[in-house]
Amino acid sequence: MPRSSTMTYACECGTTFASTMYQTVNVTLEPQLLYRLLAGSLNVAVCPNCGRRIESDLPFIYHDMRRGLFAYAHPNAEAGDEERDQLLERLREVYDEAVGASERILAEERASQPTPPGQPDIPRLTVRRRSPAEDLSAQLEPSAPPMQVIFGREQLVALVDSLLEPEERLGRLALSARGAGPAQRERIVSIAERLASQFDLQVETEGEGADFTVWVYGPRERIETLAAQMRQ
Ligand SMILES: [Zn+2]
Repeated sequence: MPRSSTMTYACECGTTFASTMYQTVNVTLEPQLLYRLLAGSLNVAVCPNCGRRIESDLPFIYHDMRRGLFAYAHPNAEAGDEERDQLLERLREVYDEAVGASERILAEERASQPTPPGQPDIPRLTVRRRSPAEDLSAQLEPSAPPMQVIFGREQLVALVDSLLEPEERLGRLALSARGAGPAQRERIVSIAERLASQFDLQVETEGEGADFTVWVYGPRERIETLAAQMRQ
């Protein structure tokens, strides 16, 4: 499965543009994707001409190795029962195959070395429709299945956010450019991009004309460090 692909969008305003959409989101390898998810800009194409947002409803794999979250995320919470059942059935097959393969590998390892007593069996995928809080508690239990199926972008965001330490949560800083002309706006964006790369943060612009705002976002701790530096 490819990690991401470039897709072309035709906006209602007549502009055609390309945007990167992720099929696999591994936030351990690409931590900036975690903050794009929290900021609502992951798998969202934004028209460079009119700023219209087009949210992708294609499912993706979300993997956070460090926090132990492995999820199949279906952005559309409104998926019909039949669609859900088909999807879960397909996932169960894929999962059973994967578990079968790891059981074989483990069996080979056990054959070559003694296993400590009381080691739990590999958990199997179960179908659940729960709230993020319940998913979280299940996820913290060692017997919980390692792969979760999540319907809805907000549900995934809530679950991901609940796994973060306070200082890791999303922080934002607005660089307002009210009344600025196009040249000044460009200058503010380039300053924001420089600061962001220095502090390993990300930049997003919002609004047009008088409402134009540049957002710098990322882990709260780093945003606070940046804000403290800017006040000096
Ligand atoms: Zn447009």
